[in-house]
Amino acid sequence: MALLIESVPLWHFETNAYVIAPDRGGPAVVVDAPPDPEGVGDLLAKFDLTPVAILVTHGHVDHVGGVDGIASETVRAYMHPLDIDMARHPRLQLQALLGSAFPMGDEELVSTQFNDLEHEETLTIAEIDFGVLHTPGHTPGHCCFYLEQEAVLFSGDQLFKRGIGRTDLPGGSYDDLMRSMADYVLPLPSETMVLPGHGPSTTIGAERDLNPFLQELQ
Ligand SMILES: [Zn+2]
Ligand SMILES: [Zn+2]
Repeated sequence: MALLIESVPLWHFETNAYVIAPDRGGPAVVVDAPPDPEGVGDLLAKFDLTPVAILVTHGHVDHVGGVDGIASETVRAYMHPLDIDMARHPRLQLQALLGSAFPMGDEELVSTQFNDLEHEETLTIAEIDFGVLHTPGHTPGHCCFYLEQEAVLFSGDQLFKRGIGRTDLPGGSYDDLMRSMADYVLPLPSETMVLPGHGPSTTIGAERDLNPFLQELQ
């Protein structure tokens, strides 16, 4: 099945929001919800799509901050339980990114009730099979979503074109990120299309060969 996969970079960090659907004019799954739900809504409207679920790669505000504006009783949101605290209370993350002077209280940013993602489960939504790979390192609950039939990986902030996710934010671990890479990401077939949380797409094969951060693993 040739899926419709479209994306738009949103918010200050140009976080890629993706919509995945069997076809125009039907149900769609959203991967990541930057704090610009109107931007996600515009992308859905452009292809006449109705969201039925949101899969969140991890709890950083640039990927989850818009989830309250999209989720509803008919649009379930999914995230790994280890990142839920971070999603609700982003103050520590934002201070690490923007400096301790960042004026922000500890109010709850995201109130959506999430369904838990589990490592190596398959979620079938809108007749599309999303394999869940728990890939801790960038955050403790980071997950990638793998469409085996279509050879597509939504890599979040685990793997970028010629880059890897930063691990200096609270909860990050370089060792964990590299272990996730070696165990679950790099073994995927070379032709797998990688659609990351920031920047352009790439393939597993190209990153194995050309990504300077991955050479120590091979
Ligand atoms: Zn992140
Ligand atoms: Zn990000």
